[in-house]
Formats: sequence, structure tokens, C-alpha cells
Amino acid sequence: MITASSPLAQQSHASPDWRRLWREAITDAHELLAVLGLEPLADHLAPQDAGFSLRVPRGFVARMRPGDPGDPLLLQVLPQLAELDAVPGFTKDAVGDLASRAAHGVLHKYHGRALLIASGTCAINCRYCFRRHFPYGEDIAAASGWREAIEYVRGQEDVEELILSGGDPLALSTPKLQQLTDQLHALPHVRTLRLHTRLPVVLPERIDDEFMQWFAPLALHKVVVLHANHERELNASVARACARLRDCGATLLNQSVLLRGINDDARTLVALSRRLFACGVLPYYVHQLDRVQGAAHFEVSDANATGIIEDMRAHLPGYLLPRLVREVAGDAAKRPIRTL
Ligand SMILES: *Cc1c(COP(=O)(O)O)cnc(C)c1O
Ligand code: SF4
Repeated sequence: MITASSPLAQQSHASPDWRRLWREAITDAHELLAVLGLEPLADHLAPQDAGFSLRVPRGFVARMRPGDPGDPLLLQVLPQLAELDAVPGFTKDAVGDLASRAAHGVLHKYHGRALLIASGTCAINCRYCFRRHFPYGEDIAAASGWREAIEYVRGQEDVEELILSGGDPLALSTPKLQQLTDQLHALPHVRTLRLHTRLPVVLPERIDDEFMQWFAPLALHKVVVLHANHERELNASVARACARLRDCGATLLNQSVLLRGINDDARTLVALSRRLFACGVLPYYVHQLDRVQGAAHFEVSDANATGIIEDMRAHLPGYLLPRLVREVAGDAAKRPIRTL
């Protein structure tokens, strides 16, 4: 029960509606550069890409440093000319998702876990993302009231964990999410609900009272895997969103992508681990980049990546050291990258 003195009762009346903030995101690269006083960078912009245009919430832009063309948050969202380079080995379906679809919107690659592509959109467009080429269309699990996904998982008794991913599952309205969990009584073997979401980081207002009223009472193990790549993404509003998620009883983890020029040094990732811990989040994975077309300029070699992790090991308690992995099509799990 939510009582007046419980943390759940801390209302967020004052915070603006997340849907409005979503709509008000910056989608024009020239506007973004103007806000940051970086107009001269316009010469290095890739032309507007209709399929994967610039998109970044204004609250995330506010965490960027004005006047800094190398800002690690800016570089994650700015479409640069380098995206147009065709680099051998960088393809449109780098992780074999097209081949492993089990049903509409369901990926079942690993034992015990089924992943629902809950939504096709995100509040932010990260330039390194495999999603930039994924032909979601209507092929998402939430279409048709989750019916096909529920049908599929019903016949898979080994599946103990349902992962909502995307796109970003929290792009869906809370009633749409509730529509899924209302049907989970049909899947008694599912014990754990996991959300893979970047929204608590890029649009923390998403963790609003309505969300809490849905998520907190769920009688499941709850895991929320956030996605932050740099400590400067984690401001006070994000820390508050994390606290609210923990109030719901969720275990909080973070995954990052190793990105050249953004977080490819031990000092930056050590600072991220410490900042995550301060927010009640444990580092989970550092991913080697999926080799998607248009993202080659972000790639870090395995030799550099393992060196960075070894440096981190010398500075952090074991529980703050993320696992360095790569997703390899056809593997039974994320593949660890051996350190030297
Ligand atoms: C990454 C992924 C998972 C989750 O893997 P964990 O190692 O449990 O985090 C599950 N299913 C698919 C299809 C994935 O790509
Ligand atoms: S939030 Fe995640 S899924 Fe969405 S664009 Fe960024 S990396 Fe891709």
C-alpha cells in the first residue's frame, strides 16, 4: 500500500508530462548546434537521414557543454559525415536479429530468456545503434495487444524471464505496458520481468507516478537495465528516477557501448562506474560496438578494449567492473572478450 510517508508517495506533480517533453525533443541538427554555440560544425554534418534522423530530448542537451565540439554526449547523437563511409564488415543486420525472430516481435536466442521488441522508437537516436537499420514497421510485440508474444512464450516452458526491449519499451504508454502484465497469469513459468531502457537516463520524467503505480505492485522479480555511456549523463534528475525504480523493488544494472572518442579510456569508465553506484546501479556490460553500417567511426579495437578493462580492474572493486562482451550472431550468449 502506498502511504503518505512511503517514498512512493513522493509526488511528481511539479514535473512536466513526459509525452510533452518527448514531442519537444530537438530533431534539427542546426538547432542543436545553435543551442550549443557550435554553428561552425554544420559543415561536418551528414545530410538529414529520413530513416534515422537526429533526435535528442532537451533535458539531455542541457547536460552537454556549450562550445565543446568533442562533448561526449553530443557525439552520441550528432549525425557526422563519417556515417556515410562504407566500411567492409559493417552491415545492416550485424547481430543476426532478422534470422532469430521466433514470432512477431519476439527474439528467442538464449536459454531461459525471451526478448520482446516492445516498441520501435526511442526518445533519442544514438548514432551507433543497430536500430538505425532495423525494419521494425509494425513488427513489434505490442501490436495486436501482445497476443502473438504471449502465445509464443506460453509454449516455451524454459522461459523464466521476459525482457522488454526495442527500441525503448518505455516509449509505450503505461496502460500499454499494463496490458502485457495483465496477461502474465497465462505464463506462470515467467518469474522475472526485465526492462532494457534508456529513458530513465535520457528522459527521467518517464518514471512518473503512473509508471510507479503500474510497476511497483507487480509480483515478479524486476530488473531494469539502463543504458548510459558517460557519467555526465547521470544528473540529479536521473538519480531521482533511479531511486524511484529502486522503490519499486527493481534491481538496477547498466550497459554501455564502448565508443571511440566518447568513453574509450579507463578514467572515463571508472568515473561512470562510481557515478552509477552512487545512483544505486551496478555496471553490467560494456558492449563492443555492433558492426552496423554508419557506425564504423565509433569502433574500438579488441586490444584497446581489453586494455581499458584491465586498467579499470586495477582501480575498482570487483562489483563495479562491467563485463566486456560482444554479441555474435548464432552464439548461445553474449560472448566475453578475453582480457590479455
Ligand atoms: C542480449 C540479449 C538477451 C539478454 O542477455 P543477458 O546476457 O541475459 O543480458 C536476451 N535475448 C536476446 C535476444 C539478446 O540479444
Ligand atoms: S536508446 Fe538504445 S535502442 Fe534507442 S537508439 Fe539509443 S542505443 Fe538504440
